[in-house]
Amino acid sequence: MSYFVDENGYYGKFGGAFIPEMLYPNVEELRVNYLKIMESDSFQKEFKSLLKDYVGRPTPLYFAKRLSDKYNTKIYLKREDLCHTGAHKVNNTIGQILMAKRLGKKRIIAETGAGQHGVATATVCALMGMECIVYMGEIDIARQAPNVARMKMLGATVIPALSGSKTLKDATNEAIRDWINNPVDTHYIIGSVVGPHPYPDMVARFQSIISEEIKKQLTEKEGKENPDYVIACVGGGSNAAGAFYHYLAEENVGLIAVEAAGLGIDSGESAATSVLGNEGIIHGSKTLLMQTKDGQITEPYSISAGLDYPGVGPLHAHLSESKRAEFISVTDDEAMKAGIELCEFEGIIPAIESSHALAVFNTKKFKKTDVVVLNLSGRGDKDLNTYINYFKL
Ligand SMILES: *Cc1c(COP(=O)(O)O)cnc(C)c1O
Repeated sequence: MSYFVDENGYYGKFGGAFIPEMLYPNVEELRVNYLKIMESDSFQKEFKSLLKDYVGRPTPLYFAKRLSDKYNTKIYLKREDLCHTGAHKVNNTIGQILMAKRLGKKRIIAETGAGQHGVATATVCALMGMECIVYMGEIDIARQAPNVARMKMLGATVIPALSGSKTLKDATNEAIRDWINNPVDTHYIIGSVVGPHPYPDMVARFQSIISEEIKKQLTEKEGKENPDYVIACVGGGSNAAGAFYHYLAEENVGLIAVEAAGLGIDSGESAATSVLGNEGIIHGSKTLLMQTKDGQITEPYSISAGLDYPGVGPLHAHLSESKRAEFISVTDDEAMKAGIELCEFEGIIPAIESSHALAVFNTKKFKKTDVVVLNLSGRGDKDLNTYINYFKL
């Protein structure tokens, strides 16, 4: 069984490129060129140098002693929260802006929900002096004001999506429409391992720096490359794809993907796609998604904006279906409790997305000798208001 993309863009039966014909030339240009560009020496040199000096990589692999004592196992945190801009997303946007430059593009578009991917995209556009247009649902613009301000400070134009539910999927539709109308000079930076082939594979490769570093760092600390488990939260699935990537074929490493159960799996307010979803097509790829009987996408819910997505990338659909990864769902309450616990035990305020991954220690028992690496995808600054309201701080 392979967990890597095949030549047709599939992971098992998931993936592919289900796109309108007008988009075909853009996606095809990327598909034909992405591997050649990524594997070239000049690309690797520039990518690695920016990851080091701009993003601040390698991020530490930190042994969390007090948390380990509490759960009676060995817990390491991969500190993506220490990346410039506060999360792993910038690994991907750095990679894609370098790709766009080499494809001769002058203009960048992106979609954003909560604004995290919009900020990471605006950041690299400022870095490279490229025009940046971010589509964002009108409702999201209203509820994510600080991120809208960040994007504007970084020089991006934020265009409200006014159709449908005025949230992420509508912003995505607007971005696709823009790309169809500007096929020659524009690159579309997608924010996770979602979208038509080759995006899921390209984004996973950019994020795979996470597990590349874990292997080296664990060798220094434990004398072996492989932990017993790797844990990561899954929205679209990019931080998990990066943390799992170099372990996908190592069947003795347990992979644990954590989804947001929201108010509970059966509450109607959830984002646990592996449990509630079934096969369908969203944003150009065949994957698992939450939908009604007649194929309308169900509005997802999670307290965490980054996990509030009605699908998962095709790699994760395949990992779920093949049972290569164990999928665990965590409610808002369980995540918030685990988030505060990390503050109190380790002095680290996690993003609420990452708090979902941390909550696994309360639902699954590990052996004392197990080495468990948890990908701490981001820091909690952006979530301060949610923490304040939830705990009445
Ligand atoms: C966006 C985000 C996520 C979810 O996205 P993935 O593509 O699943 O990684 C997780 N954590 C943080 C901090 C995020 O900003």
